[in-house]
Amino acid sequence: MLFKSLGLSEALVKAVSSQGYDTPTPIQEKSIPAVLEGKDVLASAQTGTGKTAGFTLPLLQLLSQTPPLRNRPVRALILTPTRELAAQVHQSVKDYGKFVDLRSTVIFGGVNQKSQVSTLRNGVDVLVATPGRLIDLNNQGLLSLAKVEILVLDEADRMLDMGFLRDIKKIMKLIPKQRQTLLFSATFSREIRSLASEFLKNPVSVES
Ligand code: AMP
Repeated sequence: MLFKSLGLSEALVKAVSSQGYDTPTPIQEKSIPAVLEGKDVLASAQTGTGKTAGFTLPLLQLLSQTPPLRNRPVRALILTPTRELAAQVHQSVKDYGKFVDLRSTVIFGGVNQKSQVSTLRNGVDVLVATPGRLIDLNNQGLLSLAKVEILVLDEADRMLDMGFLRDIKKIMKLIPKQRQTLLFSATFSREIRSLASEFLKNPVSVES
């Protein structure tokens, strides 16, 4: 199986192969076509399975198929539990997105918000964020999520373990109902299933 046969564009296949990968991992084989079809996806995947590329590649492709919106509001939001993971996911967005015309940034707490705010002000298509700082900036009127088309909840089980359920629910209210939602989790507790049934529409289930 090759990345190209999953329906990925040349720009994305080129970026993946420049990272040294030419064969998709099992989770990528299943999630990439489903995301490209516009489906909601409920994915069971541990770290190390290649899950990040499993949502990043098709997300970048979907966004790059239409021209950027005026003033570049956020069109894809990737939520992660920790700043380390946020930084790591953002690096993947940059690596895989290097041949498409999209802007991205990362925001997380524990650091001064100034430079994050000034990057946001210039407009970003893809935002990677931890829930707390995202709500903070939204409360200050520095960030709108009204144009989000794709939402990714990465390591959703860890987000719940860290007590982010209320924040996630708050963030959901700021995002249009008409959107594509992807939920990645290593485990599937009752809480995760209930989160999925509340926020995903007819999801395709994929496993690594
Ligand atoms: P993740 O599960 O997303 O944290 O990815 C785990 C590691 O696998 C990362 O270092 C990725 O760069 C790498 N990776 C992603 N896709 C592939 C692939 N198709 N083949 C080999 N390694 C990959």
